[in-house]
Amino acid sequence: MPSSDALFARALQLIPGGVNSPVRAFRSVGGAPFFVKAARGATLITADDRELIDFVCTWGPAIHGHNHPVIKAAIAAALENGTSFGTPNPYEVEMAELIVKFVPSIQKVRMCNSGTEATMSAIRLARGFTRRDKIIKFAGCYHGHSDSLLIKAGSGALTHGHPDSAGVPAAFARETIVLPYNDTAALDAAFAANPGQIAGVILEAYCGNVGFIMPDPGYLAAVRAVTAQYGALLIFDEVMTGFRIAQGGVQEREHIVPDLTCLGKIIGGGLPVGAFGGRADIMNYLAPLGPVYQAGTLSGNPLAMAAGIAGLRLLEALNPYARLDALGRQLRDAVLAAARAKGLPTQVPQCGSMFSIFFTATPVRDYTTALTGDAKLFARFFHACLARGVYLAPSAYEAGFLSTAHEGPAIDRACEIMSQAIAEL
Ligand SMILES: *Cc1c(COP(=O)(O)O)cnc(C)c1O
Repeated sequence: MPSSDALFARALQLIPGGVNSPVRAFRSVGGAPFFVKAARGATLITADDRELIDFVCTWGPAIHGHNHPVIKAAIAAALENGTSFGTPNPYEVEMAELIVKFVPSIQKVRMCNSGTEATMSAIRLARGFTRRDKIIKFAGCYHGHSDSLLIKAGSGALTHGHPDSAGVPAAFARETIVLPYNDTAALDAAFAANPGQIAGVILEAYCGNVGFIMPDPGYLAAVRAVTAQYGALLIFDEVMTGFRIAQGGVQEREHIVPDLTCLGKIIGGGLPVGAFGGRADIMNYLAPLGPVYQAGTLSGNPLAMAAGIAGLRLLEALNPYARLDALGRQLRDAVLAAARAKGLPTQVPQCGSMFSIFFTATPVRDYTTALTGDAKLFARFFHACLARGVYLAPSAYEAGFLSTAHEGPAIDRACEIMSQAIAEL
């Protein structure tokens, strides 16, 4: 096996930046990305035969750890019968039943192939249903890379300094109103200033792409109330939080009923999947029943459905959310204790298996306060952890993820390593 450095040198010649998704690049923390040849449980095995405790979890999907035997067996069983049929298949019905059963607001659901497709389609559906053009999003929320949503975006767009992408026509961008998260007055003002024009509000109910940020008490209820008042649809982007914060996502934990919900990541069990669903009367606006067109050659793919179903059934059987939260609290407490010992102002927002580490004295509640985090110090912390065998996302503005496979020695070792890394900053 060629080394990571040799692979990256070849990749740089052939793939822009050497990566097929910018979040994998190390440009904001410095250095070159490593290549992974295998992953098991909480561990990545690099092309250089290093073993790393992984807190990226393939950016969210791997809630059961990598290469879980039950998911692997489900994919193998589906593979026996073929990889794609271009017709409806039985797995699609089972997947839809599981999603409708667990996500409180979803009455009907359409499968697609990525989170980006899910949010792009949900926005189009909201516009078609309401016959209005404008949408509201929040600074730092990332909803994939479609034109309407790549405005003041988080994740790699923020990490690499392009929250407003080149190539998005100004005429499209004008239809997207960007507001600060956690600010109900700004939201009320935007509705008042654009009467009858706002099709919907899309948000990460818990933000995971500007680091991890939770809403202030009452914020989500206020967003629900104002959207209902003005006849705009409320779209929860739960691509990251669905089946992770709770089986039914943030909406289950917070008792908020959005009109539409976007899913992805965990529901694919590690294969490429997205979905969007919600109120039946809205979903019935989709082709072939209604006038809003949306389609996909590989949507509802049997291998992807089999993997996702196996992962969701495992969540149903194990109900691991209390255990995951205990892991998250253990990690948060260890990092905060090390930071306190060092006299380093640090925020560690955490809920269940999501967390992030901001080196700042300012409580983080939106895009602006997230940017107060010391990104240079984070880069040093990132490399100190990596050198000792812990892999965090290579950006000061990404959430960390835990899996059930972190239970036991992995979490203890990771807490020790992160504490040492902080002590030596
Ligand atoms: C990852 C993510 C997306 C995009 O999903 P892809 O599968 O990468 O296209 C959209 N929204 C949120 C909240 C995400 O975390």
